[in-house]
Amino acid sequence: MTIDDAPREALRGGPRELLRWVATGAAVSRADLSRLSGLSPSTVSQRVEALINQGLLEETGAGRSRGGRRPRQLAVPTGGAVVGAIDLGAHHARVGTLDLSGRVVQARTLPVRIEDGPEQVLGSLLAEVATLAGAGAPVPGDGASAATGGEAAGALRGLGIGIPGPVQHTTGRIVSPSRMPGWNGFDVAAFCAGRVDVPIIVDNDANLMALGAHRTAHSELDHAVYIKAGTGIGSGVISSGRLHRGAQGSAGDISHCRVVADPAPLCSCGNAGCLEAVASGAALVTALREQGVTVSDLTGVIRLIDDGDRHATALARQAGRAIGEILAVVVNFFNPQVVAIGGRLADCEPLLASMRATLYERCLPLATQTLLIERVATSQDVGITGAAHLVIDHVVAAN
Ligand SMILES: [Zn+2]
Repeated sequence: MTIDDAPREALRGGPRELLRWVATGAAVSRADLSRLSGLSPSTVSQRVEALINQGLLEETGAGRSRGGRRPRQLAVPTGGAVVGAIDLGAHHARVGTLDLSGRVVQARTLPVRIEDGPEQVLGSLLAEVATLAGAGAPVPGDGASAATGGEAAGALRGLGIGIPGPVQHTTGRIVSPSRMPGWNGFDVAAFCAGRVDVPIIVDNDANLMALGAHRTAHSELDHAVYIKAGTGIGSGVISSGRLHRGAQGSAGDISHCRVVADPAPLCSCGNAGCLEAVASGAALVTALREQGVTVSDLTGVIRLIDDGDRHATALARQAGRAIGEILAVVVNFFNPQVVAIGGRLADCEPLLASMRATLYERCLPLATQTLLIERVATSQDVGITGAAHLVIDHVVAAN
């Protein structure tokens, strides 16, 4: 065992891993879990009983007999809305409820005006989660009376929230977001905790996308980088199979890394030539307008690129090169097995092609020899899926 393998080995047979094996169908019985984990049947039974008592596993009748008594089958309770998730974007939010295996039970997209401020935006999204969970409206007010007891507490085991800006991981507080006026320093976790009485986990949207994509598409890979390129730009890092946040939660935030650009456009952070000012959706809208092209938003930009518009396509290529330059440093430094790009700009062929070309040009052959360069499977639920997995991991780990 190398030192790199240690974090995953340490988890072998832990409650979280037992739950995951059942959720993914790798195990349907205690005997399967014992075989997969290498743990003794009595230790497995003990852990399974604990998970059943916590409502995280259930027994569903009898499995196939191998001669003796037919074994009881284990399953993750499905269909019930047990985890709430909010993936907040600049203009829309995806809100959903998911079961303990991370499958979406219900989800919907709501328009959002981020400039309305955190209380109003989060207040209405929390109400939507409560409606989806069948728990009625959350208790309004200053937090003195949280929604405890009855169906509300029974329906939800936790809530995961993704924010399109930097989030201090230890506190759940937003720190200097670029396009969220009125949100700086806001304590999302505390605000929500006053309204729903369940564990609340707040993270940035790129981390949620990374975790959701990794668990659904690449769970067998240990090292992965996911770029989220939409209105803003960011990335999430999976190291040794786990989300890597760094000391404060800012790991993977590539938005203000400097790229070669002439002229270097001014960034909202006060510096010039940041990746976000060159390659984000917002930057493409601004650049096109400066060239005299009438375009209202990112949707308009994507339409122009799809139509083969010369200006828009050139800008998309330039954005892809800029993303590739930063990614090349990341790949040389971190040596991931896969780099996947998601967000609305991931569907732009010219951007993807020049990002890929730049990566191959600038990376060490050893780093790119087996490197997968992919699109994140285009599911609008990837963010809420990541949010749900954060919550499920937390709920299981806490037990
Ligand atoms: Zn900047």
